[in-house]
Amino acid sequence: MTDALQPAGTPDTPDTPAEPPETPETPDTPGTAPADEAAAAARTAVLDARAVIRGRRQWPLPKQADPNAPLLVVEHLTTRFKMPGGSLKAVDDVSFQLNDGEALGIAGESGCGKTTTALSLVGLLPANGRIGKASSIKLFGIDLAKKSEEGLRRYRWREISVVFQGAMNALNPVRRVVDQIAEPVELRLRVDRADAVKRAGQLLEMVGIPAKRGRAYPHELSGGMRQRAMIAMALACDPAIVIGDEPTTALDVMVQAQILELLERLRRELGLSLILITHDLSVIAESCDRVLVMYAGKVAEEGAVNVIFRTPRHPYTQKLLGAFPNIHADRRTLDVIPGSPPDLRTPPPGCRFHPRCSFAMPVCSVEVPPEVTFDDGVRVACHLYPPGSDGVPITKPTKDAVAGGGDVGGGSTAGPAGLPGPGDEDARTEPVPATILSPGHGLADDHSLGANE
Ligand code: SF4
Repeated sequence: MTDALQPAGTPDTPDTPAEPPETPETPDTPGTAPADEAAAAARTAVLDARAVIRGRRQWPLPKQADPNAPLLVVEHLTTRFKMPGGSLKAVDDVSFQLNDGEALGIAGESGCGKTTTALSLVGLLPANGRIGKASSIKLFGIDLAKKSEEGLRRYRWREISVVFQGAMNALNPVRRVVDQIAEPVELRLRVDRADAVKRAGQLLEMVGIPAKRGRAYPHELSGGMRQRAMIAMALACDPAIVIGDEPTTALDVMVQAQILELLERLRRELGLSLILITHDLSVIAESCDRVLVMYAGKVAEEGAVNVIFRTPRHPYTQKLLGAFPNIHADRRTLDVIPGSPPDLRTPPPGCRFHPRCSFAMPVCSVEVPPEVTFDDGVRVACHLYPPGSDGVPITKPTKDAVAGGGDVGGGSTAGPAGLPGPGDEDARTEPVPATILSPGHGLADDHSLGANE
């Protein structure tokens, strides 16, 4: 991002100059050394992209940053809320990584812990929320989970910012938009008022709003313009990561498409990394590189979008995908997931999805399934895929068939009841046209996952 403003060198900015990292030899996390040439090539590409993107930063890396560390590594994140009569774990032992310039979608039903996961990263939890002691949230190697509220201020907005759902609620209704965007520039970057307002105008232009419209109050803008203004505010301090918490949910289909396109353009041009929280899988298919599917506060499945959307392994992922309309499918009643997510004050034992799962086995109600990562990089927590299963389910369904996997690429290529079977390895590599009817993409515009490759 180009800008006339420079940091004022105040006590809030005692950072060292950002040097594009040398290509380090050490692995990002223990035990993840490349196993073969393809993995080594992929890793080199990540490191190259990291160096390029960090070289573009307008501000130095934080003082304690390790320039060779991955952008964000979350490990064993647990977030509890104190409630009358007890507490609940809204996020339970969640781990994931976000690389420079990458877009990660977090999907799941309402109440599955998506937003709590994201807000935990920036310490924006409600007063009754607490992050567990064993949690680790490493940004450039700096553990934010160990920071005080005061210490976190250095990173909030400057390194990680948030675009909230419903800009009308997030913006102050009695302040002009330009003033609201200028405020974080003034306070976080310690620049004077005139320069902050100038930068706010530049940011508005960047998101497609004429700078002079910044003098409007939020109610004088359309819903799409307000959401764009929120995005401008999120970009105000040139952050490394922008979290979009259902950023398009309240918008009509055309505006939704415009906002997604804007986010994608900004990601490309500014080298942003995105975390998109949504229950709309078509938004993730359109905008993200990887997807993290959560259920009842835990990770169900995680991996590359173009792998998981073609051959979802976890029964919950299959059901989620099956609940989405497919523009190419025969007209039919959409698949639904029976029941509802559990009360997290008293979650079911074992796998939390077992009361709703068509594949449930006796072990499922007793033991929490371990997370297993397969050769294609997909991580699944399901007893159907124990360690050594090579990503192939060990059993067939015990109840009614799951239709979900077929809807977005798993159906015609999947094994019994939608699960990829032992003979279906090709289903994970062939370019299966997975077309999703997305309210954001328009009826005439097919979105093919194959086209993203
Ligand atoms: Fe279903 Fe068992 Fe897998 Fe849970 S662990 S999703 S209940 S098969």
